[in-house]
Amino acid sequence: MARPKKPTYGFVASRGEYRKRIKGPDGRRISLYAKTPEELTEKIAAVQREIEEDVYHRDNPTVEEYATKWLAMHGSHVRTTTLVDYTSKVKIYIIEPLGKKYMAEVTPDDVKMAINKAAQQSALPKKVKSEKGIVVEGLSNCLVKFAKCCTPVPGDPVIGFITRGYGVSVHRCDCPNANPERRKPEEADRWVKVSWVENKLPNYKTSLELSAKDRDNLTLDVAMALSTAKVKVSALSARSMPDGHATISMVVEVKDKSELEGVINKLNNIQGVYHVARASGK
Ligand SMILES: [Zn+2]
Repeated sequence: MARPKKPTYGFVASRGEYRKRIKGPDGRRISLYAKTPEELTEKIAAVQREIEEDVYHRDNPTVEEYATKWLAMHGSHVRTTTLVDYTSKVKIYIIEPLGKKYMAEVTPDDVKMAINKAAQQSALPKKVKSEKGIVVEGLSNCLVKFAKCCTPVPGDPVIGFITRGYGVSVHRCDCPNANPERRKPEEADRWVKVSWVENKLPNYKTSLELSAKDRDNLTLDVAMALSTAKVKVSALSARSMPDGHATISMVVEVKDKSELEGVINKLNNIQGVYHVARASGK
């Protein structure tokens, strides 16, 4: 065993104890006393661990601490009933599963899981229908799918394209891929009128792209907004740009356009968010 270094502690004769002064978390000196050098060494180590944890904790709150602050901040400008609703949701879906984690440890998967639990509740009571809520003019019982480029939801003006392989692909009318000027003349008769009917699916997946000033906790704030909006999230990914901006792409499940607009509003209200766009035209 190596010989211990020259002791850096002193002996206080009046107390009959060894003493070491160390810097506390606030910069002030703390004096530690012990009967033996060994005991003092142990004491120093223990106190230093505490100080380190204290400092770490201050720069890096737990999800519970953060969520509590978030609620306090939002509590001042919503109605009491709304705040009660938010508080219970944040408690059940965010604090319960993630509360003990430090903010820095939260992953997009954690976030996804928490939000999806919140959404399950509202999705459960509805019956799943076999149709997709779309009728195609002049065609009955044809296969329908929603175009990945623009992911329409009920309420969006839509148009159909009869594909070669898989029935009718439904686009938003404002999708670049459905732009009349870009349609190939030889495919003119493949474009068909489609419309939404009452008999809809409980949920429609649609893609959103959020751009914001990059900052700590942005993803969790998005999670908070989505959990209070009670929408299911089937994909979520965040990307930081070198220029200090960030984009978060997500696929949310909503019942129609008005619900989606509510979600977009909530996301737009997050601090630092420049804008939230529906994906289209890829
Ligand atoms: Zn499209």
